[in-house]
Amino acid sequence: MKCGKQLSDEMEEYCRDCKGHGHAYDRGRSLYVYDDLIRESIARFKYGGRQEYARHYGIDMVNRLGSFISACRPDLMIPVPISKKKLISRGYNQAELVASHISRLTGIPVSDTIITRITDTLPMKELSRTERMKNLKGAFKIGDVDVKCRNVLIVDDIYTTGSTIDAMAALLKGHGVERVYFVTLSSGIII
Ligand SMILES: [Zn+2]
Repeated sequence: MKCGKQLSDEMEEYCRDCKGHGHAYDRGRSLYVYDDLIRESIARFKYGGRQEYARHYGIDMVNRLGSFISACRPDLMIPVPISKKKLISRGYNQAELVASHISRLTGIPVSDTIITRITDTLPMKELSRTERMKNLKGAFKIGDVDVKCRNVLIVDDIYTTGSTIDAMAALLKGHGVERVYFVTLSSGIII
């Protein structure tokens, strides 16, 4: 109900992670379950230069999560930013590419300048929740948010614990945004 992860018990409403901790964001959904096929596809998209995958991902997002996205009534989409250093070495921000394809199909504007990443964080895969939060502290910088911007939809590639999205949601809400939602390509394992 909260993070959109698939649950093995269909009577449950919240995953273990959402039950145990509050989230700064309101709600989110992911497009695919994180299986081998999706993991490889996202890895090629992210690290293998296959930026053309963004078009397909964007179309799938709108086809399959379009009703969720419109129910959020987003005034703006914000892709999770990567640092300048990473942007130079990778050549593109994969989340931003997906967001721009969603925007092309829905008309929802995208901003990649309101929140910027000022520090590179350590890879988070192996970190605990507390370590992730420490790692993210001070990682983002926020600029001016339009007073008319009430609802924001964050776009990212993979959702795991939600700590990145929470950090951005907390910043946005501290700057007058009322609701923060997210969509990602994939969420972690079924729990
Ligand atoms: Zn959850």
